[in-house]
Amino acid sequence: MHGYPCLSILSQLAFIIPTYNDQAARVSSFAPSPPLVTTNRPPPPHFSSQSLFGRPFSTTTTPTATTPTSSSLGSSQETNASPTSSIRIGIVGGGIGGVSVAHALAKRLATTTFATTTNNNNNNNIGKTEIVVLEGDVQPVEPGQPPLWTAATARNANSIVPGAAMHVFSRPAVLAQVLQDTAVDWYRQQCTTLQGMVQNHPTIQKWVSSAGGANGTETSAATMFDTPPPYFACHLLRCVGPSATHDERMSFVRYLTQFLYATVWLGPAAADERGRVMCQLAKANRNLYLESVNANATLQAAVGHSQGFLSIHRSLAKAQNAVTEAHEHGEEADLLEWEQAVEAEPRLANIPIKDNKLHVVRRGNDYTASCESFIHNWIQESSAMGVQYLSGKVDGLQVVDSTTTASGGSNGKKKYRVKATDGSVQEFDLLVLASGVTTPLLASLLGVGNYCPTYPLRGFSLTFFAPVDDTKKVKEQENLLHQPFSIDAMYCTSVSTRMARLAGFGEFVGYRDKSASVPSLGPTVLSRYARSVFPDALHVRTEAALACFRPASPDDLPLVGEVPSMPGLFLHTGHGTLGWTTGLATGDCLAQAVVDHLEGRSSQEGAFTLADESTIERSTLSPSRFIPRAKRKSLV
Ligand SMILES: Cc1cc2nc3c(=O)[nH]c(=O)nc-3n(C[C@H](O)[C@H](O)[C@H](O)COP(=O)(O)OP(=O)(O)OC[C@H]3O[C@@H](n4cnc5c(N)ncnc54)[C@H](O)[C@@H]3O)c2cc1C
Repeated sequence: MHGYPCLSILSQLAFIIPTYNDQAARVSSFAPSPPLVTTNRPPPPHFSSQSLFGRPFSTTTTPTATTPTSSSLGSSQETNASPTSSIRIGIVGGGIGGVSVAHALAKRLATTTFATTTNNNNNNNIGKTEIVVLEGDVQPVEPGQPPLWTAATARNANSIVPGAAMHVFSRPAVLAQVLQDTAVDWYRQQCTTLQGMVQNHPTIQKWVSSAGGANGTETSAATMFDTPPPYFACHLLRCVGPSATHDERMSFVRYLTQFLYATVWLGPAAADERGRVMCQLAKANRNLYLESVNANATLQAAVGHSQGFLSIHRSLAKAQNAVTEAHEHGEEADLLEWEQAVEAEPRLANIPIKDNKLHVVRRGNDYTASCESFIHNWIQESSAMGVQYLSGKVDGLQVVDSTTTASGGSNGKKKYRVKATDGSVQEFDLLVLASGVTTPLLASLLGVGNYCPTYPLRGFSLTFFAPVDDTKKVKEQENLLHQPFSIDAMYCTSVSTRMARLAGFGEFVGYRDKSASVPSLGPTVLSRYARSVFPDALHVRTEAALACFRPASPDDLPLVGEVPSMPGLFLHTGHGTLGWTTGLATGDCLAQAVVDHLEGRSSQEGAFTLADESTIERSTLSPSRFIPRAKRKSLV
């Protein structure tokens, strides 16, 4: 889910629905209680059955895993046998952030022969490196069975949208938007509550109608399309109030301070430049994605690959602006006539906006694909290259002296000691924090919270399924929706013959475990749009909307690189609403930084080389950009 909320307010929305063409008929009805089946996806990968860390390591039991193919990736048994001869790299977080780093690192290390050592006093070749990904949210399937990786956040992400990547939230207009949306959100919540009271109490209902009241129709389904729903909501009390822990509160304060700095102090020109960098990352990401799916037809089918995206605007000026912006960034974009848009995606005709006042931009080079299925595939691939995927939720981090000299004394080297909630412990020479929204809290455990001012941004996704019989009407390998599209900052996508999904909203409501009780318009609005665009999906339940949290960066750019005050600690997070759009590219950047560190070069100077051979200054993405310049110099 990406993009800005629409600001324009067009009043009349009733849309004269054109007759369906033949293609539209194929998706005409939905099952009353759809089974959660996808027709063409591989099963998610399993984690190691001996997966609780602290236990003796075993090589991964991922179904397609083979023994490590690369001589530079040592097996776990070898590690235990000779701990000093192997560099252990721990990656906390098995989402797109962690898996993309593991995959890129495994590929790079497979072809790297280290010239120097960072792990002992001799200049021997290291020869072996072990990569371990620790994931805290894997689901046990049945007793005795290895747990499944579920891709909690990534499963929401479908579209790779370089065209939208240029949009950055850290602008003065968005600051105003957050305030306005928060007020509108509050007002509409009150309306909804009052409506509920009216409907539930016949006496009040009688009073309202006798006084000429509309019985709650002001917020009823049809008219609610007249204005775009609010996108943002900020529940300040949840972010800094008593329900937040000290570290959670501090992470909000850091986020807000840096957001204001980027937005107000650095100003619009810097925001434009950040938009350019986002776009560059998105293009490189697209290259990596296409390289993978073009080389593997099974993967391409599994991810529900499709090309092209329709972005719908409520004013012509905004649509024209979107085209100009895309062209400025070298992306394809053209304005469609409404009839052309409906031909491209017949379901657009169902949107109940009055007077056809919608303007559609087609972006030919955006792609839609299931991030979840893609990441499952990269887990399988990297497992085959020797990466170990272990289950365990990290709740303790410590820097310790590694006592590896022959006399048992300290050799002056540091290690990262990682503790899981079950009390088990592992040690790593290098540590990558890629745990999504919890990364700032883990960074705080090591005293480097200032380097990670990211904050959770809640969003929602609602998935609905076509009945089994209807699948027969759909041509094989075609997605349920012809063309994915966005409207009012909600993304409607499909990556299989059976499903479609609406996703959107950006809410500051604190951290996940305490925010379930914070109300949102999101689920109601998503289900309202879903019922309109998919009129037969009457079973769509508001409660089925899934809340998910994205790691938002205060200046929109992801955090990629080593923490200068803590050598060997790397951050890979802050992808916000665009983790699928940029995460593969930044994962490769982080792998470059890690390899540089291992080879004794500076991981922070110079530029990253992206998959399309373009370069980005490392300082642009470095976590040290949040530290005042004067202090920064003394740390590097
Ligand atoms: C509704 C919605 C729709 C979206 N749609 C799109 C889209 O269309 N396109 C796009 O580009 N992006 C989209 N995104 C954004 C994208 O999903 C995120 O940017 C991306 O998932 C972030 O990846 P991550 O690996 O950094 O974090 P996550 O995906 O959250 O992964 C972090 C992982 O770390 C694990 N973890 C956390 N704490 C610990 C711990 N203490 N110990 C061990 N493990 C831990 C978590 O269990 C999790 O698996 C969407 C997001 C949402 C919410």
